[in-house]
Amino acid sequence: MFWNKAMETISGPDLRTLQLKRLTWTVRQAEKVPFYQSLLKNAGIRSDAIRSLDDLVKLPFTSKKDLRLGYPFGSLAVPLTEVVRIHTTSGTTGKPTVVGYTRADLENWADLMARDLTMVGLGPGDVFQNALGYGLFTGGLGFHAGAEKIGMTVIPSATGNTRRQIEMIEDFGVTAVNATPSYAMRLAEVAEEMGAGLETLRIGTFGAEPWSENMRRELEERLGITAYDSYGMSELYGPGAAFECEEKNGLHFWHDSFLIEIINPETGEQLGPGERGELVVTPLVKEAMPLIRYRTGDITMILDDVCPCGRGQKIARIMGRSDDMLVIRGINVFPSQIEHVLLSLPEVGEQFMVYIDRIHHLDEMTIEVEVNRDYFSGELGDLTHVQKRVAGVLRDSLNLRTRVTLVEPGSLPRFEGKAKRVIDRRGDIW
Ligand code: ADP
Ligand code: ZN
Repeated sequence: MFWNKAMETISGPDLRTLQLKRLTWTVRQAEKVPFYQSLLKNAGIRSDAIRSLDDLVKLPFTSKKDLRLGYPFGSLAVPLTEVVRIHTTSGTTGKPTVVGYTRADLENWADLMARDLTMVGLGPGDVFQNALGYGLFTGGLGFHAGAEKIGMTVIPSATGNTRRQIEMIEDFGVTAVNATPSYAMRLAEVAEEMGAGLETLRIGTFGAEPWSENMRRELEERLGITAYDSYGMSELYGPGAAFECEEKNGLHFWHDSFLIEIINPETGEQLGPGERGELVVTPLVKEAMPLIRYRTGDITMILDDVCPCGRGQKIARIMGRSDDMLVIRGINVFPSQIEHVLLSLPEVGEQFMVYIDRIHHLDEMTIEVEVNRDYFSGELGDLTHVQKRVAGVLRDSLNLRTRVTLVEPGSLPRFEGKAKRVIDRRGDIW
């Protein structure tokens, strides 16, 4: 099912002509912003000199740092009188970035979300529980607009009050739930505690943070759903920029609205399909806050297989942000990889936490792992074989030597929004 078939399937010269026209428009829009004026001047390029999509590489990169320098409204290309909404990023890596929207931006954003939700088979007749934060976070309102647009019955439940969320799923016959994967896990846990069957639920859409294939499998089994990955960021409106189709094999990045590149984060050089690196995005129709070659910091790759669904441009699921990568004694690892390994072990429960310490000038990783309820008799002391097995499997699959500590089921923090599972204690020592 398509929401906007013309745009979702446009390809070849038609697509390139549209992208070029929109790229030139975007650079013209950026030329209204003082910091872009100087960046473009330094790079020696102007909107009227753009002749083909290959000219993209002549444009300068921009990053969160540039946007933070302009805090709060320095990145706007339109007067505040034309801005009808303000959001901010979650501030996961520092001071939140402010994002402004014109009315046209809100309409485009809702159209992308409508495409995403239609693509996974949702529509009128579905009851959609939107368990993402409403407010400055783009997640709640972003999904809300798209979900209403396609005619679903929307429950703006937001996060928290988890038992009530479960009751609503049952009482209102909810068919689809939207949340961060961490909160979806919490929903599953509480539903089991309450003995709720959640029979009507059939689809889950999860995003805003990295989550592994094993996490998907677990959520699908425990909630009785098909789970789809949703990617976005406030600077690209919010959620909706890229979404899995029913194939669950890569996320379609809307090619009429975003040009994407993958670069080597060290050299800035473009990488080809199948090569993992940092995602760089140039939105093509953003009015209030245009961006040029925006370095997302997110690690993924372009997939060039032809998707049976008929849509174009796809990326692989995001491994994490470049700054999430842990380097422990020369071994690189993303928390999402640790999650994937831990969730493959039946003895392991829902949650884990990672601590990084510097001990005798060496970085050490300690992973606290909850034991699965079914394996827990009340005594952690009986489970040294489990502790050894977890440490062994982590070592074998990630080449990572860690200290593993088992903790009781239910004892680690649960998250309603984005999880924070890594605590770096190295700074505390010096
Ligand atoms: P912040 O960057 O402050 O967290 P946002 O709320 O805008 O602010 O979050 C956007 C970021 O969330 C992305 O850059 C990415 O790191 C992460 N993210 C969003 N969706 C996904 C996803 N499906 N998989 C992995 N990471 C995601
Ligand atoms: Zn597809």
